[in-house]
Amino acid sequence: MAGIENITQLSNLLNASGVSIDKHTNEWFMRVKKGSTDYLPFLTTEYYLQTALQADDAGCRAILKQIIPDIREFDTAECELKDPLGEEKFSPFPRFVHRYEDRALILVTDRCAMYCRHCFRRSFSGGINGPLSDAELTPMAGYLAEHREINEVLLTGGDPLTLSNERLFKIIARIKSVRPELVVRVCSRMPVVNPDRISRALADGLGSYEGIWFVTHFNHAAELTEYSRAAVRRLLAAGIPVLNQSVLLKGVNDDLSSLKELFQKLLRFGVKPYYLFQGDLARGTSHLRVPLRRALELTSKLKYEISGMAMPRFAVDLPGGGGKITLPSQSHPVDDEGEFYIIKGLDNEEYRYPAN
Ligand code: SF4
Repeated sequence: MAGIENITQLSNLLNASGVSIDKHTNEWFMRVKKGSTDYLPFLTTEYYLQTALQADDAGCRAILKQIIPDIREFDTAECELKDPLGEEKFSPFPRFVHRYEDRALILVTDRCAMYCRHCFRRSFSGGINGPLSDAELTPMAGYLAEHREINEVLLTGGDPLTLSNERLFKIIARIKSVRPELVVRVCSRMPVVNPDRISRALADGLGSYEGIWFVTHFNHAAELTEYSRAAVRRLLAAGIPVLNQSVLLKGVNDDLSSLKELFQKLLRFGVKPYYLFQGDLARGTSHLRVPLRRALELTSKLKYEISGMAMPRFAVDLPGGGGKITLPSQSHPVDDEGEFYIIKGLDNEEYRYPAN
């Protein structure tokens, strides 16, 4: 897989297609060059960049927005957090999160094939941890053996498919050795950014285990190429159901027609649109976040435009560990100033979420 990891490679490819880098991006690279730390690295695949450059104007903008860094990532809005989902307090040990009673997640690596500029786990992704070791996996297997209330394990990160097939299968085998009945969700953006990674060997290997589900992350219809379709078909042919989680992003998919086209096309590809997430309150992402008020307006209109099968659940992850809450309508209470929605978390506590 060819990776693009610096501004020279990026500008050369963009310039060849008549696209230039704007000042926000130049400033990001300059800031990093001067020695800034604590940022999400830049990396993308040539395939994904070329998908952008071959798309129509709207598709190209939507994909480039997810690829190209911006100096505003160094700004932290008042409501933004390093750990926006409050996962740390639900981690019995590093890289393992048990937030919901019946499921747990394992951060199997911090590597990705590309670093999405909206990533909510940006303080972990692209960091210094690398792939999960056997020594780290052992207590996790023990925990899963003991906690029989856990029914599903999510393998995430980072992108689990940056691991070799051999390593990934070894992790699944270890989990299944203590709890064969556990459902395992493999969460990966590879069908979007490097569909060839979904080889027949990978799909068949995953399909040899019972209860494997694949969850991917398409945000715009222009990402659904013939290569992506072939990748999805390999998974489906191996008996692995494929779900999609999208994030609502400013300038990417924050209009009715983009969302409608995305979800209808996913269905045609055999992928069930599962969730549409409000952008999390992760540091440095406010320039990409759609205000929740507008998100609720959009999603309440969308449900009249597409079938129930095409319509994902719209959900917000409440900051500080309030949990993932599905928002069914526009009628949420706001505070006296109308600036924050008051939303009840899974713990029955009230959480404030910026409306605008
Ligand atoms: S692939 Fe997933 S974990 Fe990696 S940067 Fe994108 S959203 Fe974050």
